[in-house]
Amino acid sequence: MSSAQPILPGTTPIAAGVAPILPGATLGVFGGGQLGRMFAIAARRMGYRVRVYTDHADSPAGHIADAETVAPFDDLDAVARFGREIAVATFEFENVAAAPLRTLAELVPVRPSPLILYLTQERLREKGILAAKGFPTTSFLAIRSRDVLEQAAAQFGHDAILKTAAFGYDGKGQARIRGAADVAAAWDALGGALGILERRVDFQCELSVIVARSPRGDCATFPVAENHHARHILDASIVPARLDERVQCEARELALGIAEALELEGVLAVELFLTRDGKLLVNELAPRPHNSGHYSFDACVTSQFEQQVRAVCGLPLGSTELLRPCVMINLLGDLWRGHELPGVAELLGDPLLKLHLYGKREARPGRKMGHLVCLGTDPADAWARAAAARKRLGLPQLH
Ligand code: AMP
Repeated sequence: MSSAQPILPGTTPIAAGVAPILPGATLGVFGGGQLGRMFAIAARRMGYRVRVYTDHADSPAGHIADAETVAPFDDLDAVARFGREIAVATFEFENVAAAPLRTLAELVPVRPSPLILYLTQERLREKGILAAKGFPTTSFLAIRSRDVLEQAAAQFGHDAILKTAAFGYDGKGQARIRGAADVAAAWDALGGALGILERRVDFQCELSVIVARSPRGDCATFPVAENHHARHILDASIVPARLDERVQCEARELALGIAEALELEGVLAVELFLTRDGKLLVNELAPRPHNSGHYSFDACVTSQFEQQVRAVCGLPLGSTELLRPCVMINLLGDLWRGHELPGVAELLGDPLLKLHLYGKREARPGRKMGHLVCLGTDPADAWARAAAARKRLGLPQLH
């Protein structure tokens, strides 16, 4: 494939920079979900030990890790014990509170930094820093009162989305405003929380770039994923994206610029809108591997999870070259019947289809249970295999 991108060297020579954390060391991951699980798979393959910190036993990451600390996330004694057992801490969700982060940071390097977490935990801070550093974002306004919401909604032509500034994901805590009559209900839905009103973007497509940066300053971006959502949850990612090279280069440059501006140490996902007039706008950042980068596990020389291991350990980054075109399809709990995914054996009748299940015992509607990566000999072949898999699963076809 033509999407190989050189790893951009950093400015700090290894000898003068941070000593790498070598295989054999224990890596700590805060959070027990599927992102921690795939990090643990990648780390253990490279000979690291992994300790997971999770607030519930029997977690997807805990199934793979060498060791598990099960305690509430705000139990600072447990966090300190965890910190003393590991060489470096990373995380698989960004809503980690300040106190445990401080406790961890006193004991071990925390990568990405607590500052990046702080910035990305809250949409106003995130968009504020992006805008201040000159990156293009959706138009937004802070909402602290109903009066302000009324004025802001009018300013955006009553075509906007009200979101909770903190703790929102997968469309949770969002209300669409289509006219003045929607303002009252949107305000009520906010429930007194700090809000952010965004002008609705008339996008032609949603895309994302995963970027990694090591403590030495080396950077690498993954190929652009073209993302399709259903009910605000990622449904499928298509790689290579069906977009012209110029847009894809620009998206990767944007992600690199953000990684450098934030002095990232680790992996960061940059979600973008491509507007109908060809402009890229940043929608959201996630300072960790991302669902839209799952394709890399099977389709790239180095997966986003291996890259996270390399970056947080201060090792050289791996090639992000795409080996095969692919379509990633999310498997949500809606597809399950009891404890089973019906037709799973038949799905595997396609030898270019890779199945990932996260070991979650209970399926619920909307819950991410696993994903498929449909590889292809060329983009049309990957598309056809994905179409066949979706038909078998009873999912609507992609366009
Ligand atoms: P978010 O949680 O902000 O990533 O939003 C979830 C999804 O809602 C996005 O992937 C978009 O499909 C849609 N969305 C969010 N913000 C906007 C916006 N300003 N304009 C148009 N669609 C949006």
